[in-house]
Amino acid sequence: MKYIFVTGGVMSGLGKGVVTSSIAKLLQLAGLKVSCIKIDPYLNYDAGTMNPIAHGEVFVTEDGGECDMDIGNYERFLNINIPKNHNITTAQVFSDVISAERDGKYMGECVQIIPHITEEIRRRIAMVGIDESLDVLIVECGGTVGDIESLPFLEALRQMRATCQAGDNVLFVHVTLAPSLDVVGEQKTKPTQHSVQELRRIGIQPDYLAVRCTQPLQKKTKEKLALFTGVNESDVLSCHDANSIFEIPGILYEQGIVDSMFRKFGHVGLMDSSKDWDTWNGVVNSMVQEGKTVRIAMVGKYVTLTDSYVSVNQALRHAAADLGVSIKIDLVDSESIPTGMVSKYDGILVPGGFGIRGAEGIIQTAQEARIYDTPYLGICFGFQLAAVAFARYALNIPDAHTSEIVSDTNNPVVHLLPDQVSDHATGGSLRLGSHTIKIKPDTLAHKIYQNHTIQRRHRHRYEINQDMITKLEVAGMIFSAYSDDSRRMEILEIPECRFYMGVQFHPEFSSRPGFPESSYRAFVKSAARLN
Ligand code: GLN
Repeated sequence: MKYIFVTGGVMSGLGKGVVTSSIAKLLQLAGLKVSCIKIDPYLNYDAGTMNPIAHGEVFVTEDGGECDMDIGNYERFLNINIPKNHNITTAQVFSDVISAERDGKYMGECVQIIPHITEEIRRRIAMVGIDESLDVLIVECGGTVGDIESLPFLEALRQMRATCQAGDNVLFVHVTLAPSLDVVGEQKTKPTQHSVQELRRIGIQPDYLAVRCTQPLQKKTKEKLALFTGVNESDVLSCHDANSIFEIPGILYEQGIVDSMFRKFGHVGLMDSSKDWDTWNGVVNSMVQEGKTVRIAMVGKYVTLTDSYVSVNQALRHAAADLGVSIKIDLVDSESIPTGMVSKYDGILVPGGFGIRGAEGIIQTAQEARIYDTPYLGICFGFQLAAVAFARYALNIPDAHTSEIVSDTNNPVVHLLPDQVSDHATGGSLRLGSHTIKIKPDTLAHKIYQNHTIQRRHRHRYEINQDMITKLEVAGMIFSAYSDDSRRMEILEIPECRFYMGVQFHPEFSSRPGFPESSYRAFVKSAARLN
């Protein structure tokens, strides 16, 4: 097994996830079987209970994991599904060790961070590599070197290098920042020097530096960094700003990272992968092309951090790239929607959401999109509230609602299924992951998906109320897909509109560059008036 461990220095938000994904992509293009793990040193068991404003979106895996958004980056770069055991948190590690202690498995030993916690971390990492027969496993350690919470993880990674067996290999990549105070100014190396000192203090000498900077790293900056950090000058890699994150693998490749890693791993020769490179370059070029601009409003409440909706953003971009159009996405706060907003856009997308804040704004938007015949794609909450809007304004039930917001509403269009109404914990209790969806013939959904069944990922608790379906259908809304023997509705449409669709699932988690998800593609196509 070969391991590459990616650590971060100086500050958060430098794009460790993109560096990790890019290295993984390059090794995949070189013909190796690779995957990635994300370590999140926080005390939440998983990302499911975290506000997207703080940490970015919650990415849902096929097997129902509520994971860090970096897992989504790995999936999109590598075009593979990544299971939830690739997102390791402090809470998972500690709860396993504590329950083993309660079960008497430590036979009277004093249970400690070293060796018990570090052994559990190492076991989890090694298990992924072995179970999936990987050539290379890339492990990204969240947080920044020096954080108290990441110490046990970094210690476990240090031990893995110190104890690696013959034939095994471990490489460390440290991601840092070289700021320059003005555009032509000198690239500063001190933050990186300090960060590498901190890393060495805990016993880790990096093999590579991936240095974030606005302009390409200058030769003299590379020399200085090499001198102060003990990293070969040729392994100090410039990660300068690019038009698209998908350009980063190419930027790293040109600096010789693949040859260098193969040399350090003792691999002989690269496999022929020119065909894969052509496909990848085609995808990258399509993502940066210019075309007719389509303006999309994304209406939700997590507007202060664009990462809150990263998969939705990406899915729109994959669709636009495939259609040869440029996309401009505006995040519109559902709590204060400007009047006449809907008519200013080519399409309205309402992403998933929870709770009362901004819900009325979404209901209003769903209504106006129908009235002005602006293409509408509602995801999950955007699907549920489109049904509420239709009940209020087309069926004339002014107090129609979802019981998520008004639990004792007289007219629940969206509610809990009878068997769901019981006490439940907040974490991990939603309907999660991939489920089979059946699509009815002669519907827009069928035209889009060209299939009677699809598999898509979910993350929700509430469902369309069965008692409302006939009434909604009589007024012109149809439910074109369902799951679980019709217990749950999955897609709604208003055939009278140019494009009006809501989906209970999250198509964005299945969209990949070069392979846009069909509903997103159909939405952008309609917004661009390409049909
Ligand atoms: N809040 C809704 C539910 O729980 C929708 C969830 C979502 O949009 N992801 O069903």
